[in-house]
Amino acid sequence: MVNGLYPAHIPAMNIDYLLYEGKATSFLNNRISKYVIGICAGCSIFQPIELRLAILVRLALLGKIGMPELPEVETIINDLNKNIPGLRIRDIWSDIGRFDVEKLKLKIVGNKIEKIKRFGKNILFFLTGGKIMLVHQKMTGHLMYGKWKIEKTSDGQEKISSLLKGPFQEKVNNYIHLIFYLNNGRQIALSDLRKFAKVEVFDVRSAGEIKEIKNLGPDALTVEFSDFQKNIAGEKGSVKQVLMNQKFIAGIGNIYSDEILWKAGIHPERKANFLNIIALKKIFKAMKNILKKAVKKRGTSISDFRDAAGKKGMYGNHLFVYGRKGKKCLKCASAIKRLKIGGRGSCFCPVCQK
Ligand SMILES: [Zn+2]
Repeated sequence: MVNGLYPAHIPAMNIDYLLYEGKATSFLNNRISKYVIGICAGCSIFQPIELRLAILVRLALLGKIGMPELPEVETIINDLNKNIPGLRIRDIWSDIGRFDVEKLKLKIVGNKIEKIKRFGKNILFFLTGGKIMLVHQKMTGHLMYGKWKIEKTSDGQEKISSLLKGPFQEKVNNYIHLIFYLNNGRQIALSDLRKFAKVEVFDVRSAGEIKEIKNLGPDALTVEFSDFQKNIAGEKGSVKQVLMNQKFIAGIGNIYSDEILWKAGIHPERKANFLNIIALKKIFKAMKNILKKAVKKRGTSISDFRDAAGKKGMYGNHLFVYGRKGKKCLKCASAIKRLKIGGRGSCFCPVCQK
């Protein structure tokens, strides 16, 4: 029996090498659920993983689920910062046990939200009383600002529905599992189909200890070329993997690494430490260009991502390679190929990218 272990190797998990199938306590909700053990394709380590998580990872590998990256999180932050600063948290509701609502309430109810900032793909709410609340939306989570009501159904369940019309009514926005009630009568809600989002409160004094933050490299949107070069150039991995590693550069995931490398004309399998300065400059320029445009278009909504008003991002219409396997390259008309690099699917043009 495997205990509810958090699978540290999720992104590279390869369930082709299935060694065990059984039941164990879920990390997510303390219920007994199906577990499998496979070999992590990235590091060849035996890894227990919850079956539904393994399926989800597979969907992500196939490009069917796009996890929020820098442009999507930046969109949410910008939206929230228009309305939220200065408002006070009046109450909190959640049906996810691991959020421990009672503890959360003790820590932050009554506190005012001063500002909201992005660190890589993390959202940090800076609150009065010296508190910081970290939210990582993970695969399918997204924060919205609106108005919801909770009703008890005849079978004792709680039913949550939006009181506002429009995009809030869309199904993807109706997996509400966490609500922060604000003192202006509005709420911040987390819609999260898969329930993987992370919410945690820290003291400002220990902010330097937040592991999600302290291990982050410089932000992809603001990093200068010298730091970018310093962090990327010495790494032995493929450039695709290095770009996605938050330790080196923060904010880039599967979607934008594919797009950046296509724009730069660099093959995703090239080793980062063999890239010359011309190649590095091309990647750097493409990175700034693609990310800025994606922020302007309010992110990519491949699957679940929506902005704080529940609306889709429009960058999905501007993708060159991601999710386009078999389709024509928009520059040279060759068929886009897909490769597995470190367990992640990578789409590229075999002609334009060398
Ligand atoms: Zn091409």
